[in-house]
Amino acid sequence: MKSLWNDQEAAAYPGDLGQRVYSSRLLGRDPSLVLHGGGNTSVKVCEPNIFGEPEDILYVKGSGWDLETIEAAGFSPCRLPHLLRLAELPQLSDLQMAKELKVCLTNPSAPMPSVEAILHALLPGKFVDHTHADALIAVTNTPDGEKRVAEIYGNRVVVIPYVMPGFKLARLCAELYPRHAHAGTIGLVLMNHGLFTFGDTAKLAYERMIELATLAENYLANHRALELPVSKGAPAAAPLRAKLATLRRELSAAMGAPAILATHTDAPAFDFVQRADLAVISQQGPATPDHVIRTKRLPLVGRDLKAYRAAYTDYFTALAVKSGQKLTMLDPAPRVILDPELGLCTAGRTAKDAAIASDIYHHTMEIIQRATALGGWQALPAADIFDVEYWDLEQAKLRNAGKPAMFAGEIALVTGAASGIGKACVDSLLKRGAAVVGLDINPAITTLYTRPDFRGIVCDLTEEAGISAALEEAVRAFGGLDMLVLNAGIFPPGASIAEMGADLWRKVMTVNLDANFLMMREAYPLLKLAPNGGRVVVIGSKNVPAPGPGAAAYSASKAAVNQLARVAALEWGKDRIRINSLHPNMVFDTAIWTPAILESRAKHYGLTVEQYKTNNVLKTEVTSRDVAELAAEMCGPLFAKTTAAQVPVDGGNDRVI
Ligand SMILES: [Zn+2]
Repeated sequence: MKSLWNDQEAAAYPGDLGQRVYSSRLLGRDPSLVLHGGGNTSVKVCEPNIFGEPEDILYVKGSGWDLETIEAAGFSPCRLPHLLRLAELPQLSDLQMAKELKVCLTNPSAPMPSVEAILHALLPGKFVDHTHADALIAVTNTPDGEKRVAEIYGNRVVVIPYVMPGFKLARLCAELYPRHAHAGTIGLVLMNHGLFTFGDTAKLAYERMIELATLAENYLANHRALELPVSKGAPAAAPLRAKLATLRRELSAAMGAPAILATHTDAPAFDFVQRADLAVISQQGPATPDHVIRTKRLPLVGRDLKAYRAAYTDYFTALAVKSGQKLTMLDPAPRVILDPELGLCTAGRTAKDAAIASDIYHHTMEIIQRATALGGWQALPAADIFDVEYWDLEQAKLRNAGKPAMFAGEIALVTGAASGIGKACVDSLLKRGAAVVGLDINPAITTLYTRPDFRGIVCDLTEEAGISAALEEAVRAFGGLDMLVLNAGIFPPGASIAEMGADLWRKVMTVNLDANFLMMREAYPLLKLAPNGGRVVVIGSKNVPAPGPGAAAYSASKAAVNQLARVAALEWGKDRIRINSLHPNMVFDTAIWTPAILESRAKHYGLTVEQYKTNNVLKTEVTSRDVAELAAEMCGPLFAKTTAAQVPVDGGNDRVI
């Protein structure tokens, strides 16, 4: 591990708090040190209060901030003497501690201080850094972990046996640290948890952290337990989408709501699920207890969700009784699934949750295998993990996430998604919490958005194999298909029937009709498995009820799709799949309508551009966003009891009225 410290860069962060921000970000940049909100840092300063009197303040990371992106506002200013007095109390409940941490803030609008604030206050050194370094965790999760730690660090660190984070940990450190520390002490090792370092400058604390983590890495390397052998990865597998969507449906039932299921067949994941000892090494526990809220204590090996649910319920019942508290069981669905055929699958209520579980478990697989190579992987007992899983302060983090979005856990696929109405549909569905797959023939689709809940796939919808491959990729990304928006289509230049070439006719039919038929047929088995019932929205056209001269191919293709949708409604109703159409008229904020074309069309009708754009009963302009919002709502609860409907979104058309 290399120090990323750069004096020049650091100089751009003036003051104690600036330095604190800089080195916190350096720590956050290395996922083998901290992951997704893990780790915390602090700095002790003396600053005047409102009366001009100097006060000792601990600026400690606030909850909800990630070290990688933290800013000065992410550090909570706590009165240091108050924290030090708290450390002298014989006990303090979680809720009392949370209250006291708020009470000691000098800024009421600062975020809630880290639960390790008291421990940060106790440790010497102006700057204190805390990480969950992978290499150290691998070493401590072995049967003779303490002996190994002594071998690596000698007496340069104070070793703290595992206790639950928060007040108990601060109390134990308050007791053990003064007993064992000396002038040469540079940090703490928390067994099965992580590292603390400190120093008078941000640089010193940070470089000590890098040094301690590197020593652990070197130890692993010397024991041939650092680099893991990696294969070439998964072979090109047969289609898995039916199996994955079936698994996701059962998973959603266990979770009590639709779930995202992301499949990973990268080489490290593939190698791990192929291991002969998978059922043993994967069933001991997480690498460090705070992962439990993201990954649950144990992954499911194979696909027997019924057995997993039963085992989770037993684990909860046994340990809840032991705790003597009144606890409510969390959902009994796994967040990590290890299956030799499917690979590593991670689950969550959102694509982001599934991605976080994946990041954490990728590190976990490495840690487990390193500890195994070192002589034996040994996680903490179930009771310790349970305490963190059902710890009120951890539960609060999840509760604070708020009410789930309308389409949380659901997956939508939009065709023709790179621009215009299709892109607007992507936006409307993302806004409502869906994970969205966008298909387009335009390669720009792959970079439309970089976020965990979007996947852009280049696809020529006129090719059967292309549709099949796109659905396969979509289901591997998110687990299934709940909503399908059929938007892709072409509008050819005007031509009368008398003058139309057969080639043009066939091309329009291939794109506007055949491709939708193929997509519907291929999507049907997946839509059938949607936990809340499948939904299809067809972006039709006002040409269906009110065709125009010169647009025979377009009008006929849209009318045929309309009829196709009506038949689908009849055939698929028994499978709880709803299909509705909406009929927009001229939507001008799309790429086809350049200012020049707009002007020439308006002139053709003897209208101004403004008159032309609002040439409908309501005299209003219809935008792609209007169409997209209606399409999204048609997938939602408002239309739960509607199928085969045809809704105009055109400002009113006197030819139809
Ligand atoms: Zn920690």
